[in-house]
Amino acid sequence: MIADAFFKTTNHFFPKLSIWLSSVDDPRNKNKIIYSPSHLLWLGLFLFLLRLGSKRKIKYKLSTQDFLKNLITLTASYDENVAHHDTVEYFLDKLEPMELYKVRHKMTNRLIRMKALDKFRLLDKYFMIAVDGTGHLAFKDRHCPNCLTKQKEEKILYYYHNVLEAKLVTETGLAISVETEFIVNINGASKQDCELAAFYRMAERLKKRFPQLKICLLLDSLYAAGPVMNILKKYKWKYIITFKEGSMPDRYDEFLKLKKLCPQNEIELSNDNAVQKYSWVNDISHKENFFDVIELNEVNADNRTRFVWITNLDVGKNNITKITKGARLRWKIENEGFNVQKNRGFNLEHPYSQNEMAIKNFYLLLQIACIISQLIEKGSLLAKKVQKVFGSATMLFEQLLEDLRTKFIGSSFSNKPIQIRLSSFP
Ligand SMILES: [Zn+2]
Repeated sequence: MIADAFFKTTNHFFPKLSIWLSSVDDPRNKNKIIYSPSHLLWLGLFLFLLRLGSKRKIKYKLSTQDFLKNLITLTASYDENVAHHDTVEYFLDKLEPMELYKVRHKMTNRLIRMKALDKFRLLDKYFMIAVDGTGHLAFKDRHCPNCLTKQKEEKILYYYHNVLEAKLVTETGLAISVETEFIVNINGASKQDCELAAFYRMAERLKKRFPQLKICLLLDSLYAAGPVMNILKKYKWKYIITFKEGSMPDRYDEFLKLKKLCPQNEIELSNDNAVQKYSWVNDISHKENFFDVIELNEVNADNRTRFVWITNLDVGKNNITKITKGARLRWKIENEGFNVQKNRGFNLEHPYSQNEMAIKNFYLLLQIACIISQLIEKGSLLAKKVQKVFGSATMLFEQLLEDLRTKFIGSSFSNKPIQIRLSSFP
């Protein structure tokens, strides 16, 4: 059942995935090639999709006859055996990461074009993209010329690589990687790379890849600054940014004063669990940028929480609760994004290679595998069964591993188009 769902889901959302994988610009000496790029890249994807945990397991778990037949069905290439994990790594050492960026873009673009994600848009219009940085790898000794360094009193404590992610997030818990920027020093620069510098590089690429897409970026308080707003305005993106007093103290004071002057901009809602008081102020200006400010005070049995955001969406009585719901999805990049990728078998912080290029490629394969994984979990073929039958997603993919290595699924798999919808529930 699960292997069938895997084939059908992949085929439904990404019927050309194997073609995209096989058309990457192959860096190897063409005369000596035994395995196709698609064969090797699928093995890289299975490393994450099947939560193998380390690349050695490619050899130990996947070198069965049934797995080979399943892989052949998937790649439509005819190989005599499953490649060794060293061969996969050798290929990833040489492959330009941009090739995998392109594959991921084709995937996310296809999801958007087939309207699979339309129902999750904010105000039925904007795709919500959360941007945040996280730790990727840390080393005791210098690992490459571009490592960032953590220093204390002139002493280097450790070396590390960080990463900035843009993930399309939904209320149902999807966190789909759409763009990545590695936070590492470039060409041995003397000034350390940082999240904001990485954001400027990433924003340019995101705009190029999705020039027409209606986007609302969800950002933390680091981004509540004039230069960021200028970029967001230039690219015609909407944004919701966490607002802390320290980011723009004058604007913050202005908001508090204006709030008192507009008592009509207030709504109170209550349900069984909490009382929510919303207030807002329109049109605060900061160096040629105009934005609205939203405040939400929430009181429940144990807690009293206050949130403040700034946004260039036009806030009013009719949309404030929806906008606030969107704003609160920002933490999904932490939970459904980074935590899942670090702790649920994906091993994001594990150094799958020492080679700088391969490190990036493994990271990108993880992101692609994670997209496929989420579509299987949240797709209508399985969504309800995940909890009932498997208990958790981790067990579901353990079963998928078992099925793919011990049963030939391809023969019973039909290529007939089917309809798969993404669950509307978390
Ligand atoms: Zn390094």
